[in-house]
Amino acid sequence: MASQDTTEVLDNILDRFKSQDPVNTRSWFEDLMAVQFSGGLLEIACQDEAKAQFLYDNCLVGFTKAAQNATGHLVSIKFSVLSGEPAPKQLSETAGKKTRLHPDYTFESFVVGPCNRLAHASCVAVSNALGTTYNPLFLYGNVGLGKTHLLHAICHEAKKTLPAAEFEFLSCEEFVNSFVRAIEKGSLARFQSQFRNVDILVIDDVQFLREREQSQEEFFHTFNALYNNHKQIVLTADCPPGQLPSLEDRLISRFKWGLVTRLDAPSYETRIAIVQKKAHLRGLSISEDIAEYVAHKVKANIREMEGALTIIYATAQACDEPITLELAQQALGHNEIAGKKQISITAIIDAVTEYFDVRLADLQSKRRSQSITLPRQVCMFLARNLTRHSLEEIGGHLGGRDHTTVLHACSKIGDLKQNDPDTRAQLEELTAAITDPK
Ligand code: ADP
Ligand code: MG
Repeated sequence: MASQDTTEVLDNILDRFKSQDPVNTRSWFEDLMAVQFSGGLLEIACQDEAKAQFLYDNCLVGFTKAAQNATGHLVSIKFSVLSGEPAPKQLSETAGKKTRLHPDYTFESFVVGPCNRLAHASCVAVSNALGTTYNPLFLYGNVGLGKTHLLHAICHEAKKTLPAAEFEFLSCEEFVNSFVRAIEKGSLARFQSQFRNVDILVIDDVQFLREREQSQEEFFHTFNALYNNHKQIVLTADCPPGQLPSLEDRLISRFKWGLVTRLDAPSYETRIAIVQKKAHLRGLSISEDIAEYVAHKVKANIREMEGALTIIYATAQACDEPITLELAQQALGHNEIAGKKQISITAIIDAVTEYFDVRLADLQSKRRSQSITLPRQVCMFLARNLTRHSLEEIGGHLGGRDHTTVLHACSKIGDLKQNDPDTRAQLEELTAAITDPK
């Protein structure tokens, strides 16, 4: 067990991290435990694999720096899992595997309102009785209304209540890519056994299944195999099955066999509750009037509401001021992303290519000269920070690079942002050009 000193070191690290990176701070950091601190290695344990993975992905660099500042020594950090679950693997080892569960996306952190009550209830029911209640479960709705969140929540819950259940959770794009890879490598049998022998298959955004492609045929057979074995299937899309543009009729009819449920945009009251929930998740308490202000500013897309909160924290941090209504109004006042448009990777690429005077083709090429590498990495960093695209999607836009490359770019530029004032100024200028184009 950790000594008093070690626990103090951890508290000190958490305080530093919180002020340095409020966006990645979570209220569950309170439950982190310092397991041991010896030979320059500090081991920090958390409750489950999803949390450990979050720490790896978002906090390793920040924690390491905070630890060095707190102790005045070189310290390396290791994250482990308390509950006896396997410790997370290094990222390179998880490359190409299924989607990782995000610790923020649980049923507890999902606010239920009239807009999503049925979808939420059906997801809870499914996660407690795989394959026997609604099968398949098909959720649809506009972007940013919580479909992906609910999918993660189902998997978290199923892991808790049915620890032996095998699940595969991936985006439709990942399903198609992994099918294409399997064909190229001649490992179709392995692909089929990977997807046809699970207890629950969760596929996000099936609107990306393409017409007359072999992957749709493969998906059809996967669906049948699972369905006939009473295994759970959960799917999402941005429209109901009948309106999916390139889907074959036989798949559309299968998608309707179970329960099809819609998510609507949240009402004002639900939006207020969501803002408060999100702030709480980050260990912040914001007053009622700020929550009302954000809920009033951003209406259609919950993801944008989170973006608005992030802008408020970042502004408070930059000005070193407490979060007040006035500060929130200032922060969002100039910022028209609230309630208006969502930032696209294309907008980021446009701004970066113009700023650095390079061409998109260069960014997508294999060239590794510094004049190309830097703008490419800046694109990745901004896409990661200003959009909700996955690492895979970001890599896809920049010449089909894999998610470890994107992650490396984000950490490198993140480091530069902290340590190099020129880079920080460049990033601020670019962010302003992207979020508030003239
Ligand atoms: P979609 O997949 O429908 O585009 P997401 O699931 O990615 O949307 O949700 C976008 C963001 O909004 C996520 O951060 C998610 O946590 C949040 N969100 C959506 N609905 C809710 C809700 N009812 N309660 C809390 N957070 C929500
Ligand atoms: Mg989604």
